[in-house]
Amino acid sequence: MIVTKFGGTSVGDTAAIERTAAIVRGRLARQPVVVVSALAGTTNALLDIAAQAPKGQFIVAIRGIEALRDRHLGVVHELLGESDEGAEVGAEVSMLFDELAHLGEALSVLGDVSPRSLDAVAAYGERLSSPIVAAAFRQRGIPATWVDARWVMITDGAFGKAHPQPDAIAEAVREHLQPILRAGGVPVLGGYIGGTPDGLTTTLGRGGSDYSAALFGAALDAEAIEIWTDVDGMLTADPRVISGARLIEHIRFDEAAELASFGAKVLHPSTIAPAVQRSIPVFIYNSHRPDAAGTRITFDAPRLAVRAVAGRANVVLVNVKSSAMLGTPGVVRGIFSVFERFKLSVDVIATSEVSVSVTLDAATHLDAVLTELGAFGDVTVERGRGIVAIVGSGLGGHTPSMARALAALGDLRVHMCSLSASAINLTLIVDGDQVHEAMRRLHRSFFEEGA
Ligand code: ASP
Ligand code: MG
Repeated sequence: MIVTKFGGTSVGDTAAIERTAAIVRGRLARQPVVVVSALAGTTNALLDIAAQAPKGQFIVAIRGIEALRDRHLGVVHELLGESDEGAEVGAEVSMLFDELAHLGEALSVLGDVSPRSLDAVAAYGERLSSPIVAAAFRQRGIPATWVDARWVMITDGAFGKAHPQPDAIAEAVREHLQPILRAGGVPVLGGYIGGTPDGLTTTLGRGGSDYSAALFGAALDAEAIEIWTDVDGMLTADPRVISGARLIEHIRFDEAAELASFGAKVLHPSTIAPAVQRSIPVFIYNSHRPDAAGTRITFDAPRLAVRAVAGRANVVLVNVKSSAMLGTPGVVRGIFSVFERFKLSVDVIATSEVSVSVTLDAATHLDAVLTELGAFGDVTVERGRGIVAIVGSGLGGHTPSMARALAALGDLRVHMCSLSASAINLTLIVDGDQVHEAMRRLHRSFFEEGA
């Protein structure tokens, strides 16, 4: 049993869905469970609609809904033609759009959109794509059965970024997916969307389909989880920044998670967790080039000193300095409890005997946070910094990689530096506008100069 997940561009139009069907047909012997995103761009369009409707822009919202309706019905027609199934799915799609239009109208009357109604609107993307794909599969010889993901991806009610409930999901998988698999069928579900036990629609957060795939994979104890997208896999750097970036064919779980958290757009970071816990390998493939190698993410990839270079700007560095920290237990806990209270996740940490420096991504409530941190010492903030990370399993120990990295940076200013004891990434804080240059220098040194 494998889980195959197809992102928005792999189901974006008729040609893409045809390719996806061919990929799944080639995997029938492995008993695929198929998870699909919304047609590319649909979730964005839906969220725009949800934003416009309550602002008195009802006409604009309705126009947006009609454009989506035309696009989806066009795909249905192209894929299914005049068949009975085509008529049936077309009617179903139309009905969903009628519902959506009512929802838009309700939002415009209310003049307000709650997180709950935002999820209800956003979920239409996957509620539409999944039955279309299932029907297209059936017409192409795949014994596909559509399953409403909201019955299976059971979550709490944290709309916008709902938390999956693994036990309830496992039970729902037994009830809704196992019988289909046992009968030799191929379940097709939307990613990203879920439902609370009392039937409210939720979403897992943007890009959440990978997470869905990993969660279903974990619940089914799948042999593998395949993430089909429009790039070849994970690369040694972002190719938009570094033209010489290369494919990583095999990477360790922890390295991949690290890379994902540093903005490697290929993979949703949380995808990793449910798969890691079950040692299920995750493969990333390009649906445009189904025979290409792709990237395999496992526990046991050989250790490599440096696997990739990543970076991002817009980082805030907060430094708390106080001689009172000297030998005082609990200060660090106090400082971190402030971040915890404001739900800010800290990325990079460096400490000395008298100071604690951290970086934050989302600097929401920063003023309030700084005020509270003031209780622990002198607080300084540096905005507009960037993070550059070198990810690999052999950075510590006796390898010369650390020296090489610092040498490669040359005259670029490093504001902070952190290497964890697990030595899986060396993180350097540089000026925000130097992130790309730093990445280029590091990539050149480790990957382009015969490393
Ligand atoms: N359709 C959702 C989004 O665009 C989920 C996904 O594609 O993973 O965020
Ligand atoms: Mg997507």
